[in-house]
Amino acid sequence: MTRLVTSEMKNLASAAEIINNGGLVAFPTETVYGLGADGLNENAVKKIYEAKGRPSDNPLILHIQDISEVEPLTIEINSTAKKLMDTFWPGPMTLVFKKSAIVPPVISGGLDTVAIRLPENKVARELIRLSKTPIAAPSANTSGKPSPTKASHVFEDLNGRIDMIIDGGSCDIGLESTVIDVTTLSPVILRPGGVTFEDIYKLFPDVSYDKHLTLDTITDTVKPRSPGMKYKHYAPEGELFILEGNIEKVQKYILENSDENTAVFTFDGIDFDLPYVRSLGTSISGSKLFFDLLRECDSNGITKIFALMPDKKGVGFALYNRMFKAAGGRIIKL
Ligand code: AMP
Ligand code: MG
Repeated sequence: MTRLVTSEMKNLASAAEIINNGGLVAFPTETVYGLGADGLNENAVKKIYEAKGRPSDNPLILHIQDISEVEPLTIEINSTAKKLMDTFWPGPMTLVFKKSAIVPPVISGGLDTVAIRLPENKVARELIRLSKTPIAAPSANTSGKPSPTKASHVFEDLNGRIDMIIDGGSCDIGLESTVIDVTTLSPVILRPGGVTFEDIYKLFPDVSYDKHLTLDTITDTVKPRSPGMKYKHYAPEGELFILEGNIEKVQKYILENSDENTAVFTFDGIDFDLPYVRSLGTSISGSKLFFDLLRECDSNGITKIFALMPDKKGVGFALYNRMFKAAGGRIIKL
């Protein structure tokens, strides 16, 4: 039985008790909902992989609530890491460090590194504080499905498989954290997110993207340094296509190729005379609704989704990255 509860204090206390007893609790963060377990308890962490059906070589992020908690989990905190932590924590940024011996191998999928984040969400931080342990937490969805941005999404996927879901409303950002490798002095972005390339560039002009992020196709030849990025992700039931090019041509293509089970994801100010049109908002800030709309399409029997190409600046690049994966790499250039 999974208990769905509000985020009031007495529920957070019983959630911490579940974590300390090796159980699983889904909780809100500012990015997406996380599926949490005691990050230093190997058996508890294994339950996360089972509940999600997650491949065991896809490592997990450890969530902490104070910067001082990084030190025991790592063997080196270099000056780049320090500056990033001071600037962007608490927030939607995960840093990859060389790991210390107290981090169980099951967390890091066999790598010698560990990913750590200090989230901003108050419920998340209070839960970590009460649990007195780093909480391992991937997104609280079934592996391969769109990430959950509401408690109801978690319930749909994991009811009966986990102990508790804490409902903290909709996630503010709605896309997973930016993952940055700080094992070298030049930061490398492994996954784009709410902390953007432009944000980091202001501090470190030598920041770069991991190679696979800038490819326009899905390929097996470049091995991503963030193992999770190689799996098909965020897939809706229907087929998603990204449309790029001259807007009149894109509008014409969509009108000619739609039927009653087609959805269109557009941005504010670009309209379509079709029954199932959803605006993501602005291209830059449109990330918040994306996963929610994918799930909405699934529950309404949508078989085809046409999505306009986001502007790849700022958070728009993170939105593009998730859209590209949800589309299985299908871009129609017009
Ligand atoms: P999720 O928890 O579902 O948001 O996925 C966590 C992401 O962080 C995945 O893309 C992982 O590959 C990445 N990640 C976690 N730990 C590491 C690590 N030690 N090195 C590189 N990437 C990592
Ligand atoms: Mg995930």
